[in-house]
Amino acid sequence: MLNVYTRLVSGMLFPLHERLKQHTSVKVRKSLEATQWFLPEKIVRLQVERLRQLLIYANTHVPYYQSLFTCLNFQPVTLNTLSDLQRLPFLDKSTIRANLEALKSDQAHGLARFNTGGSNGEPLVFFIGRERVSHDVAAKWRATRWWGVDIGDPEIVVWGSPIELGTQDTVRVVRDRLFRSKLLPAFEMSDEKIVHFLETIRKFRPKMLFGYPSALSHIAKHADKTGIKMHDLGIQVAFVTSERLYDEQRQQISSTFGCRVANGYGGRDAGFIAHECPAGSMHITAEDVIVEVIDPQGNVLPYGEAGEIVVTHLASKDFPFIRYKTGDIGVLDDKLCECGRGLPLIKEIQGRSTDFIVAYDGTVMHGLALIYILRDMPQIKTFKIIQESLELTRVQIVTEAGLSQADIDQITAAFKARLGHGVTIEIEQVTAVPAEKSGKFRYVVSKVAAT
Ligand SMILES: [Zn+2]
Repeated sequence: MLNVYTRLVSGMLFPLHERLKQHTSVKVRKSLEATQWFLPEKIVRLQVERLRQLLIYANTHVPYYQSLFTCLNFQPVTLNTLSDLQRLPFLDKSTIRANLEALKSDQAHGLARFNTGGSNGEPLVFFIGRERVSHDVAAKWRATRWWGVDIGDPEIVVWGSPIELGTQDTVRVVRDRLFRSKLLPAFEMSDEKIVHFLETIRKFRPKMLFGYPSALSHIAKHADKTGIKMHDLGIQVAFVTSERLYDEQRQQISSTFGCRVANGYGGRDAGFIAHECPAGSMHITAEDVIVEVIDPQGNVLPYGEAGEIVVTHLASKDFPFIRYKTGDIGVLDDKLCECGRGLPLIKEIQGRSTDFIVAYDGTVMHGLALIYILRDMPQIKTFKIIQESLELTRVQIVTEAGLSQADIDQITAAFKARLGHGVTIEIEQVTAVPAEKSGKFRYVVSKVAAT
């Protein structure tokens, strides 16, 4: 009976709902389910064509890009390869703030206003058009179907601060529209509340869980501790997003709920960037998103090297995101996934919203300046840098065999060279780096052991 209901929602009610909202997500999802099997070269050709169309449109209808392209003497019709994109500057948060109106297409209607917490406490305001909403909804829908879960299947969502719950982000647009979707507020996690959550999940028997890895693993731990069985509910998959997923969290969630864990990467600003398939790879939504990885000087890095993730969203003509700097650190992979999809892969997301580090004299620098110091020391497996204040930076480090005094001196000296000699550097050797709750990534950077 459940399947009949899911088919009704997925095949009729949701499509009807989307049509009323003037969204094209049903059509887009069907198209994405075809293109995901294209050979990589064919996907690149599709990207180049869509990119050219986006830039031609921006040149005609988006004042910011009209004047930028004129200044650069850039002719969108001449774009032939993805690397031609490198002729354009990056779009960072301060540029968006300074050009909020000029970034809107003169043809845009029905733009939705969003905001996201900024690394320096200043929120970023931006706009998303219907086309982009449809594409982000469709991309998520495709990813859930990779795991045998469809819109209309019962789902438990563990999410959000009260502020986030009050806004209309794209994740919520997807989720709120799902019938049979139940929300558990992740910001209140007392033992009493968690027991209530566990009872709710048992009663609801979801096919899928969705939430922060920290929240889901926290709930799972509590179930184990109190002896509440959760593995027999028929949960198919736990979708996690918004934070780095640690191996021990993956194991905890998987063993307690008796399901697999699927990692997702994206944001309200940057879109639905990548999602894990059942074969274990993070596939980029390449039909809609071009991902570049850059070093602190803005040079594009080859596959396998860690740098800041920069995205171009190809369905963003109402408010273009072209070479948008996410502030996240990741590594691209040139391998093909054994699942057979031609969509390119992100190997690791090393840090999320890595933000900026502020030196003692007030100089703002990218978190990579410090990440690179630790990344290049092979004895270090994982680390976390927490800038507590301008005077104090703490570094938590996980190693196989411990650090020597010479290692500690080397790290301290390198950090002081960048942050200033008046700064105290505290180095702590730990067995694991604890996860952060979402929204507390300020001055926190971390690294994953290369796999
Ligand atoms: Zn795959």
